[in-house]
Amino acid sequence: MLNKVRVRFAPSPTGGLHLGGVRTVLYNYLFAKKHGGDFIVRIEDTDQSRFVPGAEQYIFDCLKWCNLEPDESPVHGGNYGPYRQSERKAIYLPYAEKLIEEGFAYYAFDTPEELEQMRIDEKTAENLSPQYDNSIRRKMKNSLTLSAEKTRQLLNAGTAHVIRIKMPEHETISFTDLVHGEVSFDSSLVDDKVLIKADGMPTYHMAVVVDDYLMQITHAFRGEEWLSSAPVHILLWKYLFGLNSMPQWAHLPLILGPNGKLSKRDGAKFGFPVYAMNWTDPRNNEFTEGFKEKGFLPEAFINLLAMLGWNSGSEQEIFSLEEMIDAFSIDRIHKSGARFDYEKATWFNQEWIRKIPVAQLTTTVKPLLEAAGCTITDDNRLTSIVQLVKDRCSLLPDFEKQAGYFYLSPVKWEREAVLPKWTSEKPEFFEQFCKNLATIGNWNFIEIETVFKNLSTEMNIKPGELQLPLRVMLVGGKYGPAVFDIAYWIGKEETIARIQKALPIFKA
Ligand code: GLU
Repeated sequence: MLNKVRVRFAPSPTGGLHLGGVRTVLYNYLFAKKHGGDFIVRIEDTDQSRFVPGAEQYIFDCLKWCNLEPDESPVHGGNYGPYRQSERKAIYLPYAEKLIEEGFAYYAFDTPEELEQMRIDEKTAENLSPQYDNSIRRKMKNSLTLSAEKTRQLLNAGTAHVIRIKMPEHETISFTDLVHGEVSFDSSLVDDKVLIKADGMPTYHMAVVVDDYLMQITHAFRGEEWLSSAPVHILLWKYLFGLNSMPQWAHLPLILGPNGKLSKRDGAKFGFPVYAMNWTDPRNNEFTEGFKEKGFLPEAFINLLAMLGWNSGSEQEIFSLEEMIDAFSIDRIHKSGARFDYEKATWFNQEWIRKIPVAQLTTTVKPLLEAAGCTITDDNRLTSIVQLVKDRCSLLPDFEKQAGYFYLSPVKWEREAVLPKWTSEKPEFFEQFCKNLATIGNWNFIEIETVFKNLSTEMNIKPGELQLPLRVMLVGGKYGPAVFDIAYWIGKEETIARIQKALPIFKA
């Protein structure tokens, strides 16, 4: 029987969650759900120097917003915990010691100063940044160069040390990546990575392999930036657990911005979000904008991420989460980097604003309008207004402009749109129009339009020339749906009041 699919997202809680990180979550999630598997979130927090308060909670908040809830995590529990590597510290050392016993790793006692000296001494024109590798290790202070007795003495005396992997010389290390196909590395070019640090904590390389094994991970989706670490991981798998139990890897293409890999600096420079949600780095108060607060719907956000580096093989671009699960396949993940296009991203959002049920959209929009000063007492009325204007909105804050005037009388008017054609009979028209509106018993847009047209015929003014001023009086500017719909939803008294308030301003 095949093992149950188990995938993991393994973030280091060091800052905000980049859209590339959410895409990694999404592909993990889609693959797990498609195959009836489990989606695990493991917090890789072994680098204490990079610990950022609040970053872990932020990751879970983002996943919740995206509706990509894990099956197992430090928050959701599960049978393979703890799911925070800092709480698993004691697990890793025995594996590293086993590697040493079998000759695949060694203790290294070099001080930071000695390592620095090595980098200076070994630097040549051909090798500008020498690394601790098979050519250097024999000149350094480690259990390969020291006698067994000296090594024991140093260990017994509590001398600061790390454990390093002993990379073999001239071995070709190959594996089949689910995205890139066959990938090979020359082991001589890879340095002897630290596996256990001086503080006893494992490094990422050690912990990722041990935890993927213990958590029975079957497939590992991760960013392409980790491809260069694969040879170390493969060797650790080979030495510790056997290659047969190694997960299958899929290294996901980079997300590209205007100049190479998309960075948060690009976002700040070009004015688009790069993180899932707003994030303020507590260390320096640096703020990075999020898709959520920019006004994206989570449905649109994950949809656009799915299409950044994957295609369904059809023309379809709008996918619900269920449809994505159904359509997802690894062989349609692209090999080359995916360019992020913010205009296209807002197009996805616009489509989703049209697509989600209007009641759901109303619930999302209501607090935004309230925050903008609208007093909303009738949810059914709001739903109708949202329905009326939603096609004009591509980001949620657009509703403030497109729906706000149903609640708030304009305080500014685009006079310059009206004045060129503001002839003397027009104020007369609007004064009479207000009187006629006041006589309408059953306030509906057909009645309003009829009163409007009859009066314009009577006064011999083209209705087209009157609609724009009416719109500007009711709304403040040249936007919004059909003007009689607007008048209907604003109500009789308020429509009349707005015309009367604006008239002197146009006359002036
Ligand atoms: N902790 C790594 C990161 O921050 C995880 C890489 C992996 O998935 O193996 O991205």
